[in-house]
Amino acid sequence: MTPIFDVIIVGAGSVGVPLSMVLSMRNIRVLVIERGHSIGQGQNKTAIGGIRATHSVPAKIKTSQISLNIFSTWQADYGEDIHWQKGGYCFPAYTSETESNLKGLLKVQKSYGLNIDWLGSKELKNIVPGINTDGLLGGTFSPDDGTASPLMSINAFYNMARKYGAIFKFNERIEKIIMRNGCIYGVKTNKQEYAAPVLANCAGAYARELGKLAEINVPVFPESHEAGVTEPVQPFFKAMVVDLRKTLGVENFYFYQNSGGHIIFCLTPENTISGTNTISTSEFLPIAAQRLAGTVPRLRNVKIRRIWRGLYPMTPDGMPIIDRVREIKGLYMAVGMCGQGFMLGPGAAMILADMIMQSPPSLEPKLLESFSLYRSFESAFEKLK
Ligand SMILES: Cc1cc2nc3c(=O)[nH]c(=O)nc-3n(C[C@H](O)[C@H](O)[C@H](O)COP(=O)(O)OP(=O)(O)OC[C@H]3O[C@@H](n4cnc5c(N)ncnc54)[C@H](O)[C@@H]3O)c2cc1C
Repeated sequence: MTPIFDVIIVGAGSVGVPLSMVLSMRNIRVLVIERGHSIGQGQNKTAIGGIRATHSVPAKIKTSQISLNIFSTWQADYGEDIHWQKGGYCFPAYTSETESNLKGLLKVQKSYGLNIDWLGSKELKNIVPGINTDGLLGGTFSPDDGTASPLMSINAFYNMARKYGAIFKFNERIEKIIMRNGCIYGVKTNKQEYAAPVLANCAGAYARELGKLAEINVPVFPESHEAGVTEPVQPFFKAMVVDLRKTLGVENFYFYQNSGGHIIFCLTPENTISGTNTISTSEFLPIAAQRLAGTVPRLRNVKIRRIWRGLYPMTPDGMPIIDRVREIKGLYMAVGMCGQGFMLGPGAAMILADMIMQSPPSLEPKLLESFSLYRSFESAFEKLK
């Protein structure tokens, strides 16, 4: 007999797992199908753990605020430590152009309730002791942002989803989406068939491939980014520092020190690297090491322990797609999270769960237009990608 569920979610990643948690907590019978051998084996485990509501677009600000509320209260509410650290986000400015861009965003950010301000270079030095002050003009600081462990977080959400009855199938790949009379009927994996009237595409970097099974164009294109972690050193700062200076090969560079003392860092390469290759490049380590030592010179003797390369599931305008597919009844998606799927995951899950259940929306309908599958994808790229 074909097992029957209310909702099938494709992908046990940064979005799929919190979605399974939110839906099962609302008494929905959920099945999650994941081709990896456990949760978080897609891009969730490549994320460095940054969680900020400091964006330039209202819909993203609001979605991240929903997420922040979940991450920051998780331990108090459920007793499980996800290594949440309320260290804030700091965007230092070393050029007057960056200063005016960052100051220009403050108005919209504050109007959506963000706790953020411009600080002078002396105050920034207190937040990041040892930061290079040559040419430092000041920067923005948003103390309510923070970081958490992607591994601990996804495990916590998984445990909660299972407690409320969600079923997970690993090592199973969706091969066919079954439809009847323009409605979702179920899926066929490499192992068996499952039935449900609702299917949620949370397939991350592979969302486009999944969309093709239903002949729906999902404009998500993977590009790769690299990250690394140092040996632990005495904790001396908590903020995520986003250094927007462009240097040879680097579009921007960001890093923080986690509660274990490790510095975790990541950079956006000057030239986009499209595709799904995740073998570390030879350029990354020397460039990132130089950049880290240049931004906080006291880190120059710290050893880098490990580097890795993962994928950003990108959309053409840098905004996620969280929507219902109009052409096929029962098909939904929360995909195209770009470089922010870990932080957006729980918020995106709440928004999609509202759509699926036709509950009052967590986000104003006007703001939801920014996440529509049917938008033009031509608007200017988000400024704080
Ligand atoms: C170096 C690096 C650093 C990053 N740092 C951050 C950060 O600090 N903060 C942040 O918010 N984000 C960060 N990100 C981005 C973040 O990792 C992604 O945006 C996020 O993980 C995407 O979530 P997702 O659920 O869409 O995809 P995933 O987490 O990849 O989940 C999708 C899942 O779907 C499964 N799947 C796909 N197709 C199928 C199929 N046909 N059948 C069954 N299963 C399928 C995959 O195996 C995968 O497990 C970073 C990314 C990189 C590469």
